[in-house]
Amino acid sequence: MQSSLRKLSSTFIIASLLRLSFTDVRVQSAALDRSSEAAEAAITNPREECTPYGYAPVYTQLNKFPEVWEAASILPNDQAARAKWNSISGSIPTNIPVKSLYPFWSTNFLYLTLFFTITVSTYCWWTYDLCTTPKLAGLAPDITAAPEPLTLGYGFDDGPNCSHNIFYDYLESQNQKATFYFIGSNVADWPLEAQRALVDGHEICAHTWSHPYMTTFTSEDAFAELWYSMQMIKLVVGVTPTCWRPPYGDVDDRIRSIAKGLGLQTIMWKYDSEDADVDGSDITHKTVVRKYNDFIKTAESGTFNSGGAIFLTHELNNFTMSTAVDFYPQLKSVFKHLVPVGVSLNKTRPYVETNYALPTFEQYISGTLTVNSNIRILPNSSSSTSSSTSSDATLPSSSNTASVTTTSSNAASAMNMGRENVLFLLSLGLIYSMF
Ligand SMILES: [Zn+2]
Repeated sequence: MQSSLRKLSSTFIIASLLRLSFTDVRVQSAALDRSSEAAEAAITNPREECTPYGYAPVYTQLNKFPEVWEAASILPNDQAARAKWNSISGSIPTNIPVKSLYPFWSTNFLYLTLFFTITVSTYCWWTYDLCTTPKLAGLAPDITAAPEPLTLGYGFDDGPNCSHNIFYDYLESQNQKATFYFIGSNVADWPLEAQRALVDGHEICAHTWSHPYMTTFTSEDAFAELWYSMQMIKLVVGVTPTCWRPPYGDVDDRIRSIAKGLGLQTIMWKYDSEDADVDGSDITHKTVVRKYNDFIKTAESGTFNSGGAIFLTHELNNFTMSTAVDFYPQLKSVFKHLVPVGVSLNKTRPYVETNYALPTFEQYISGTLTVNSNIRILPNSSSSTSSSTSSDATLPSSSNTASVTTTSSNAASAMNMGRENVLFLLSLGLIYSMF
């Protein structure tokens, strides 16, 4: 009797435990529904947000894309990419050299000095002298400002960031739309976050596949960086961008020609918050706060009374996003209008697909922030539901995303092509040539 009682009680305990664990599983899976844009947008714990998930419409297609976070080149069997490249390659200049990342003390020093002297000021290389008006015939000037007075072309680079929900919630609470420059690899890693941008009524531009210095890439590889970022955005969000922003602003007339061949308008900036450049020594959080304050003072001084501005900011990490939130009220008060860049340009058809529209500038500032929110653009994600609980092996881990920040800033500091460095090289070249 005692033994059967013991058996009964242990069965009861086990059953209770099982029930408990079932309950736990139920609660947990409800909390971690990663199968739809809406469910993903509801997560506000950054740790949960940044836990990788599988999304079938993406991971079943990853074999059609370059490795996530690796420099892109046209895949061997990609006929569509090859055909597009063949159709535009004839119009890409071949006399503009691919830039080099060699340090000045290498054996390439003399060649580089010569190369910089001859070519650097010729082909509108922004990294050298902030040039935004192309020298090559047929290329439109880069967009560097919102044309309307007292208007800020509001936008953020480097997304989608996995923990951006609080930031996007804030924008939503302010009825604020922005332009987001998405990195293809980030879209592949965080597809539901990318979808949220469109669902929330923001504008999406491309920001390359792996965020390289584009002028250091061969023309074909630079094409691949743009092409695959556009294709990934199309796959995930359902629309193909017609605007892009060069990582680090590194663009010249060769890269602009490639972008033009892909129907991409080049969007730059004139003011920089330096929020992505924080390195803890030269550029600190204080530097960024000062940059924001300087920009606000510039606006207060009347600089934008006859034409607006674009200010470079990022959704790169919690600091860049929370700083954007901190300064939003001040930006709102010194500018009359904060609008997506496409809206400032009256670009009512922002994508290749014509079934999606942005409001005109006049519509937007009159309160019509979106014009076709009833149209469903997002791909059907029903097939993702079952797979969302399956292995994430086909998707890169979140550590890849974390490494982006590091890679970007390392690359930035490793880039020996800043204006100071170029001038330094030229001076050295001059001294050298005197002997
Ligand atoms: Zn960037």
